[in-house]
Order: sequence, then structure tokens, then C-alpha cells
Amino acid sequence: MKRVYNSRKRILVTGGAGFLGSHLCDRLLESGAEVLCVDNLFTGTKRNIEHLLTHPRFEFMRHDVTIPLYVEVDEIYNLACPASPIHYQHDPVQTTKTSVHGAINMLGLATRLKCPILQASTSEVYGDALTSPQSEGYWGNVNPIGIRSCYDEGKRCAETLFFDYHRQHALPIKVVRIFNTYGPRMHPQDGRVVSNFIRQALLDEDITIFGDGSQTRSFCYVDELVEGLIRMMNSDPEIIGPINLGNPHESTVLELAELIVQLTGSRSKLVRRELPSDDPVQRCPDIKLAKEHLNWTPKVELSDGVMRTIEYFRDLIGSAAPHEVS
Ligand code: NAD
Ligand code: UDP
Ligand code: UDP
Repeated sequence: MKRVYNSRKRILVTGGAGFLGSHLCDRLLESGAEVLCVDNLFTGTKRNIEHLLTHPRFEFMRHDVTIPLYVEVDEIYNLACPASPIHYQHDPVQTTKTSVHGAINMLGLATRLKCPILQASTSEVYGDALTSPQSEGYWGNVNPIGIRSCYDEGKRCAETLFFDYHRQHALPIKVVRIFNTYGPRMHPQDGRVVSNFIRQALLDEDITIFGDGSQTRSFCYVDELVEGLIRMMNSDPEIIGPINLGNPHESTVLELAELIVQLTGSRSKLVRRELPSDDPVQRCPDIKLAKEHLNWTPKVELSDGVMRTIEYFRDLIGSAAPHEVS
């Protein structure tokens, strides 16, 4: 039921206690909205939203999106899903359930409320891409039965569901494909390359290069990514996506390691480890559509964004219990 006395937008962010979700909650609150953050704290943490818990327009609900949810909101950002390979491979069946059953429940909710819903999809839908840069028209090269499939195929199925709800129920949808994003509030134990290398460098531990380090990724700073999400939600209704969001500046994993060693002044050595299976060789977004429809272009230099992330990790390592970071 719509509330009688409140004209403020009430926005649901699933996965709102995670890395991207918590920054999104910050930005939506700054814009004057009410925010309902729904998260089961599987990979997210209360530390990410601690500063919001007493905010009068913020509400936290511990809930698993694979279970139906009945709330009243005006917009939905669906971010709930573990995103780092070690997290999504920890319980792969649950990962698929979160992507698929979670999407069905959030789409059911949006259909009942007739409200716009944005899906945080991923560059992983392109798999080990055979073309670069990857544009939205590329259908991908995904292994359906490998160790990354629970995430890749779960996210692909979620996209299918979004488009079928749009066609079948005229639901206003928005689908963005997010490329590797980094910044403060990444989990120090999530095993992602930026967080791993910074933590290892700050602790003077070996920096683990998987394979020969020649594989590429394109890294987007979190504030810019969140700006892209909000612009997508507020874009014209006919803009439904999928639209790539990411920074087209491509680096090899080895270049990233060298940059982090240099910026931290670390004594760490680079060591080789086996390349995990199905690890994509090259990842670079074509962001023509984001530029054209959202007027969105990331500008933060990798060294600047990495420096800000290093500062966050320095504080975290300084204040955290040892088991939380090492
Ligand atoms: P994250 O792990 O920090 O955040 C995900 C959040 O979802 C966590 O707070 C977690 O507790 C919550 N969650 C997981 N399963 C849930 C469930 N069943 N019910 C309720 N909450 C659940 O990851 P992130 O980097 O913030 O990613 C957020 C979203 O963006 C994910 O959907 C991810 O697939 C997508 N994405 C992120 C990146 C990136 O580089 N960060 C790239 C592509 C796509
Ligand atoms: N759903 C929900 N909240 C709502 C409305 C629906 O969680 O406010 C769930 C509902 O439990 C169902 C799913 O969303 O499992 C899909 O709903 P839909 O109406 O599309 O299909 P159906 O109810 O026919 O399965
Ligand atoms: N990687 C690495 N060392 C690490 C963690 C990751 O060399 O300690 C590599 C990984 O093999 C991949 C790239 O860095 O090629 C990005 O990995 P991440 O897990 O951050 O994201 P994704 O593979 O999902 O893009």
C-alpha cells in the first residue's frame, strides 16, 4: 500500500551491505531518498553500513532474496549476489539460487508494485570472450559446466528473466553489465585481484600472480560505477539495456601488481600460482552505449583510485583483528 503522507522515493537495494551496495545506499541517501537495504550478510558486512544504521531514512533488513519479500517501495536495485570467485564458488548451488530465485522474487515484487527494477549483471556473461572490447551485442563464450558457471550462467539466466518479465508483464527494467570494479569496502578476504594484491603488499606478503599475469582486466573506481547505476535507473524508460558499465582502460594483472607494489612501497615479491580454470584472457568494455544514453564516462585514473583503496586498507589493517585481514 502506498503511504499517505510521504512523497519521498523509497528505494530497495538488495545486497546493500556489500561493497557496491553500501556505496549505492550512501549515494541514494545523499539524494534525499529513503533506503531499504536487504541483505543476508553472506559476503557483505554490517561494518559497510555501520555509519548508516542511525540514519533516519535508512532501514536494514536481514533477509535472503531466494525467499519471497513483501515490502512497499518505488524502485529496486537488485545487487544481491556474491561477486568474487572464491565467494561464489564457496556454495555454487546457493549462488545460482541467489541469481535465479532471487531475480524471480525481486521481479515478482516489482511486477506487483509496477516499479522499475535494475539488475546488476556482469561482464562474466561474455565468458572468455572471443572479441575485444566486448560490446553488448556479443553473446558470449561461456562454459556452462565449469567452476565459474554458477555465477556466469546464473547471471545470464537472470538477464533472461528480466527481459521476459519486460515482454510478458510490461515491467520497466534496466540491465547493466558491470566490469571489474574496485575501491574502499572491498572485503580484504574476497580474493579479488585488487583487494588481494593491496592486502598482500601492505603486509609484505608474496603477491600471487595467477598464470603468467598477461591476462587483462579493466578496473573502474567504485564512485563512478555507482554514478552509472543511478544514471541508468533515472534514464528514459525505453533505455532498458543491457548496457556495459566499466572503465575501458585495460591493464594486465602483472601491470596491476607492479603498480600496487610501487604505490605501497612494499617489499613483497611477485610469485606465480596456477591459473584457475576458465579464467578469461581479456576483459575490456565497449562503453559507447553508456556514453550515448547515460552521458557516462569514467575518469578516475587507476593509480588515483588504487591509492584511495590503499588508504582504506591501511586503516582497516591498522584497526582490524589479525584474523580479519591475514
Ligand atoms: P559483494 O559480495 O560485496 O556484495 C553482494 C551482497 O549481496 C553482499 O552484501 C551479500 O551479503 C549479499 N547477498 C548475497 N547473497 C544474498 C542473498 N541470497 N540474499 C540477500 N543478500 C545476499 O559484491 P559486490 O562487488 O558489491 O557486487 C554487487 C553486485 O554487483 C553483485 O550482483 C555482482 O554480481 C555485481 N557485480 C560486481 C562487480 C564488481 O567488480 N564488484 C562486477 C560485476 C558485477
Ligand atoms: N513475490 C515476492 N514479493 C511480491 C510479489 C511476488 O517475493 O511482492 C514472489 C512470489 O512469491 C513469486 C515470485 O515473486 O515466487 C514471482 O512472482 P510472480 O507474480 O511473477 O509469479 P507467481 O506468483 O505466479 O509465481
Ligand atoms: N588474480 C591473480 N592473483 C590473485 C587474484 C586474482 O592473478 O591473487 C587474477 C585472476 O586470475 C584473474 C584476475 O586476476 O585473471 C582478476 O581476478 P578477480 O578474481 O579479481 O576477478 P575476475 O576473474 O572475476 O575478473
